[in-house]
Amino acid sequence: MQDASGEGDGLRGFTLVPAPAAGDLRIMPDTAPATALLPEAGTRPAFDNSYARLPEALFKRLPPTPVAAPRLLRLNTALAVELGLDPEWLASPAGVAMLGGNHVPPGAEPIAQAYSGHQFGHFSPSLGDGRAILLGEVVTPAGLRRDIQLKGSGPTPFSRRGDGRAALGPVLREYIIGEAMAAFGIPTTRALAAVATGEPVFREDALPGAVLTRIAASHIRVGTFQYFAARRDEASLRALLDHAIARHDPAAADAANPALAFLDGVVKRQAALVARWMLVGFIHGVMNTDNCAVSGETIDYGPCAFLDAYHPETVFSSIDQQGRYAFANQPAIAHWNLARLAEALLPLMGADEAAAVEQAMAVLAGFAPAFGAAWRAGLLAKIGLAEEQPGDEALIQDLLARMAENQADFTLAFRRLADAAQGDADGFRTLFADPGAADAWLEGWRARAVADGIAPAPRAAAMRAVNPAFIPRNHLVEEALAAAVERDDLAPFEALLEVLARPFEDQPGRARYAAPPLPEQRVRATFCGT
Ligand code: AMP
Ligand code: MG
Repeated sequence: MQDASGEGDGLRGFTLVPAPAAGDLRIMPDTAPATALLPEAGTRPAFDNSYARLPEALFKRLPPTPVAAPRLLRLNTALAVELGLDPEWLASPAGVAMLGGNHVPPGAEPIAQAYSGHQFGHFSPSLGDGRAILLGEVVTPAGLRRDIQLKGSGPTPFSRRGDGRAALGPVLREYIIGEAMAAFGIPTTRALAAVATGEPVFREDALPGAVLTRIAASHIRVGTFQYFAARRDEASLRALLDHAIARHDPAAADAANPALAFLDGVVKRQAALVARWMLVGFIHGVMNTDNCAVSGETIDYGPCAFLDAYHPETVFSSIDQQGRYAFANQPAIAHWNLARLAEALLPLMGADEAAAVEQAMAVLAGFAPAFGAAWRAGLLAKIGLAEEQPGDEALIQDLLARMAENQADFTLAFRRLADAAQGDADGFRTLFADPGAADAWLEGWRARAVADGIAPAPRAAAMRAVNPAFIPRNHLVEEALAAAVERDDLAPFEALLEVLARPFEDQPGRARYAAPPLPEQRVRATFCGT
């Protein structure tokens, strides 16, 4: 990574794009005189804002609130290129002004989106973007429509008592975890940039403020549908559904019952998503219906965390006293959230309500088998078995039970099982409080593995391709955030991002990033920290 600003002003992680052709020279970030800030045409995002063309009831129009001194902390150059955005322009003063909320570029139509949400089971009819502004949408070179949203961009009509701002720590947390999820191949919103505001935000203490630029397939949540259903605003509800179908389930438009077909699409995506989370030991922590995206992307990284030692009842979030969003509860909660989506969509499923309820129930019933199939197939791959045979499920359940009983590290157990496939079981077995418990299981696993005739090397390679060596370990995330917040030191954040960009590769010299926490490093609770 190279500091392209040339002045070491904290612009980290920005790599130079190939030099522009002669005659196509652009204004460089650190040399642009103040009067020449406007970039050449074509370098700014080409916005096409389909959500802002929907009925006005769906949002409020307002610009972000400018900040004192926007400073680019990190630009996701690779993502910028994927989006068809010009990283040089984004890192320029005009680009940073946009990312900090101080400049609304031509073509952007800033809005705060309305939504409701069941939070910990209780319905809040009016949530909405209280500290986020959707600048607009772009269509990527690959033809994908993507939202560009600023999070922490100032108060909106939905702010209630909040200040509309975000603290640096949570912004960097969302950056790290979202990018790690993307590197795992798990659907997620992503971080395009983190910008320091130069202003404090006041939580329990005064903290440095920041703005995250978030990219999403859309920011439509289960709670977005609930907002209009709760108000019996069927016209807006229908407009929202048509829009969501066009973006996420185009085939549903031609179905006999588009609302039902859309529900089915969301059910399938959520089932697959939650299985993917659990296969890497991820706990979302606040699976409220406002944090459940109909696109099937992971959204709103708050008090989320990754399992170290495996236990299905693990909870990290300090506000989740009942364990509602515990690791193993996640499929049940996703299903509960989807039932709320089904309720919201009922008015659009036909005049015969009883029939609509019955059809919606049938679609919801598809969640458990879809989740179960994805979870089982994923675990089977994690233990290096290609095709399910009778007894495999028991073998997997037995492993998980032994891991829980012996506080085995979730990530390392599966990673080191690949070594066991090649004859070296020591690393695996020593993860168990009682290594004998691992030996007994290994015996059955070896006997089963022989049956499919796969050679040790390809089996181990296949296992390493699905079992990450590196996850955003909670203690490493906390360490990176503390360095940034307390010492303005982004080096640990950068180093962590670099490791996590290639989670399935063994990275010599990076053992520290793979290791579970020492007892004194263990993070036991995470905080929303909004
Ligand atoms: P979250 O916990 O980030 O999912 O947010 C839940 C709701 O609270 C959303 O409507 C947010 O917009 C709102 N919210 C969270 N933090 C703030 C804040 N600092 N200022 C205004 N609204 C906020
Ligand atoms: Mg949220």
